[in-house]
Amino acid sequence: MSCGRYAPSPTGELHLGNLRTALVAWLAARSVGARFLLRIEDLDPDRSRDEWVEVQLGELGTIGIDWDGEPVRQSDRGPLYGEALDQLRSRGLLYECFCTRREIREAASAPHDPLLPENAYPGTCLELTAAERSRRIEEGRRPALRVRAEAARIGFRDGIHGDIEGVVDDFVVCRNDGVFSYNLAVAVDDADQGVTGVVRGDDLIDSTSRQIWLYRQLGLTEPVAWHHLPLLYGEDGERLAKRHGGATLEERLALGETVGEVVGRLASGIGLLAPGRSVEAVDLVESFSWRSVAEAARAR
Ligand code: GLU
Repeated sequence: MSCGRYAPSPTGELHLGNLRTALVAWLAARSVGARFLLRIEDLDPDRSRDEWVEVQLGELGTIGIDWDGEPVRQSDRGPLYGEALDQLRSRGLLYECFCTRREIREAASAPHDPLLPENAYPGTCLELTAAERSRRIEEGRRPALRVRAEAARIGFRDGIHGDIEGVVDDFVVCRNDGVFSYNLAVAVDDADQGVTGVVRGDDLIDSTSRQIWLYRQLGLTEPVAWHHLPLLYGEDGERLAKRHGGATLEERLALGETVGEVVGRLASGIGLLAPGRSVEAVDLVESFSWRSVAEAARAR
C-alpha cells in the first residue's frame, strides 16, 4: 500500500511554503487513497521545542490536513538510528571526523567534482593515522561520524525536476555532540514507516542521493516516488521566513483572510486552483494532479 508523509521540524510556526508542501504531500497521498503520516523531526535539541509541535499540528489541522495514527517523534527513536549506525560501522563504512566547520570551509575551497553537493566534505579525516587521531582527542576534540561513500554516483527520477544524478559525499551521520543526522534519521524512518512517496522542499534535493545511498547500504526498501517542490520566496528574494510578515497562517488570518482563502492561495500558487478562490483542502483531493503541480513549479 502506498504511503506519504510530512515531516516538519518543530523550530517555529510553519510558514506558507511549509504549509503548501504539506498540502501537496497530503493531496498526493489522499488522491490515490494512500496512507498519510506525520513525523516530528525534533532530533536537534538546540532548535526543537515541544510547544512548536502543538502549534504546527494545529496549523496543519486548521488547513484541513489529517494523518493516520499518532505522529512519531524522532527524539523517541534513537535506538533505531543507533542500530543503523552499528550496521554501517560493522561494514567499515564509518569514520571519525574531527574537523571544525572552518577547517572544512577552507579545505573545501579546492576544486572538486562539480556533481558533488556544494557543502561536500573534502575528505580531510578519511586517512588519519592512529597518532593523528590521538593528537586530536588529546586536544579535546570530539569526533563526528561520517560515511565512507567513495563519491558514489546515484541517480533518481524526480517528479518535478526529472532525472537527477548526484555524487554522494562523506556526509555526517552522527554529530560530535552525539545527535544523529537528518539524513540517517530520515532514511531509517521513511523505510521503517513504509513511506513510498517523498514530497518535500527542493532545498533538500541534494540530500536524496545521500539517503538512497543509505537505503542501499542498509538493505532498506527505497521510496518509489520523489517530488521536490519549489520553496516560496519573500519579496526581497530570500527564502520565505517569519520576518517577511504575512508569511504564516496566523498572520494571514489576522490580515482578514479566511482559512479557505489561505488554502486557495496555497493551491493556486502550485497550479491546483485558479487564483483568488476560497477552497477546502478536501475539495482538492479529487482533481489533484502531479502534472499541474510540475507545470506550475517549472513555470516559476
Ligand atoms: N524536517 C525537514 C524540514 O522541515 C523535512 C525533511 C524531509 O521531508 O525529508 O525541512
